Amino acid sequence: MNTEKIALRSCPVCGGKRAEILITMRYAVLENFPLPAASDIVCCNACGMVYADTSGTQADYDRYYADLAGYAAENSIGSGIKDAARQEQSADWLASRISAKNARIVDIGCARGGLLAALAQRGFSSLAGIDPLAQCITHLKASGFSAWQGNLNCLPADCGRDFDFIILSHVLEHVVDVHGTFVSLRKLLSPGGKVYLEVPDAACYHNGSENLPPFHALSFEHINHFDLPRLTMLGALHGFGVSEVICKNIGIGNAFEQSFAVGVLFAHGERHTLASPLSKECNATLRKAIAGYVSESQRLLNAQTEILSATIKNRPVAVWGMGVDVQRQMAHPVWKDANIVAVVDRDPRKQGKAFPWEGGGKRLIIQPPEEGLRSLPANTLVVITAIHYADEIKSELAAINANLPFLELRKKPSVAI
Ligand SMILES: [Zn+2]
Repeated sequence: MNTEKIALRSCPVCGGKRAEILITMRYAVLENFPLPAASDIVCCNACGMVYADTSGTQADYDRYYADLAGYAAENSIGSGIKDAARQEQSADWLASRISAKNARIVDIGCARGGLLAALAQRGFSSLAGIDPLAQCITHLKASGFSAWQGNLNCLPADCGRDFDFIILSHVLEHVVDVHGTFVSLRKLLSPGGKVYLEVPDAACYHNGSENLPPFHALSFEHINHFDLPRLTMLGALHGFGVSEVICKNIGIGNAFEQSFAVGVLFAHGERHTLASPLSKECNATLRKAIAGYVSESQRLLNAQTEILSATIKNRPVAVWGMGVDVQRQMAHPVWKDANIVAVVDRDPRKQGKAFPWEGGGKRLIIQPPEEGLRSLPANTLVVITAIHYADEIKSELAAINANLPFLELRKKPSVAI
């Protein structure tokens, strides 16, 4: 197989177009899903950045996050009790690096404002949030923060242009137009201001990967896989120098257990630690790490597939949750002959949407769990793939239809019958 290609999407770091395909990811997607059902994960020949060579545009991704992603609800990712401890930790670190209590601080992609609330508790008085979701903006305003609907590729007209400190936490890995994001950061930042940028550390995807669904880190939501050298290079290209770096495990106490992030404090106009192209050795490090992660995921997937093919054969199957992991999981041929009788999800935005499941030649409609699971044959196996809410789902399942056996795929698959 020829793994070299001219990428559909330029490298988000250096703008290069020649790349090597590391793996092609396929997803079983809902009807009218805004994102492509397949994309290559590629490594840039010029700088070694790894990214999804997606055909989706920023507008497609914006539509996905507005309509389907799970960041707005009260109990969503980023607002749960488990995340609160992580935000307290981040707030402590940031608070000691922001000199004035009245510094103008904005958190971009702030969801429901958990980090802003933690900074408010530490005495910061000028706190604002920008988020694409209207529900989040309503919540932020009700909590007393300045808030505007928008994102870095579509800045709110009235949000001001002189922030002293900008927080961009777990946003940049989702963005198609990374350079546009940096142009916007420059526009929003006051002279002498700083930007704190945090992303998953792609150099560490393999750490703890045995506790997560295979290929979890290569979800269709994450399209840029940064490590520190490439983040540094990206900042330098836009005139930002690195003031400080933090590497942390953000998975402690969470379903992830181990999930590593890298945070960089950027200052504009500061002397760059790395303005020149990366060395040949450094160019290859990220590719090597991701290639290792891909083989480990493949090994886990094979093990999972063996269990799946034995357990879902010759019986009705119901799937609980239509999130990123299950959409990747169900593209696997092992599902082709499964007898899927119901697909359910707790998210009202997904309910009523169609899942054209090609394997079974069916068009399944996503239902609320109470409706979809109530009257199913007693031998129906409920497959649970959610990693964030698996415990909650199990207790809800017990309340709805306690007799149904289930298969949990979040870690090593296990069947409870
Ligand atoms: Zn590149």
